[in-house]
Amino acid sequence: MADCIFCKIAAGEIPAQKTLENEECVAFLDIHPKAPGHTLLIPKKHYPWIWDIPDALFVKLFQTAKQLAPELKKQVGADYVQLSVIGKDVPHAHMHLIPRMLSNTSVLP
Ligand SMILES: [Zn+2]
Repeated sequence: MADCIFCKIAAGEIPAQKTLENEECVAFLDIHPKAPGHTLLIPKKHYPWIWDIPDALFVKLFQTAKQLAPELKKQVGADYVQLSVIGKDVPHAHMHLIPRMLSNTSVLP
């Protein structure tokens, strides 16, 4: 989609700190992190909502999240990695992977 910021990141037209990329998905650091290492994971192809993604790509997205999470946990020394899908901020389906500490009891997005 021409005016979509995440499509532009996926295409390399807007710089981002990419942390993982495969044929169908790309992960990059959130520019407004809720915690160190806060990562966004998107399909390269534009779908407004996560529920619009075809099944095979939906599975690939979750497999990529599963691949990314333990690496992220290790890199920042987190207790676990929260996975959130909200979808209101940018109209390109995306997941938040947020490294968290068990001692942090704040309410999360
Ligand atoms: Zn897009």
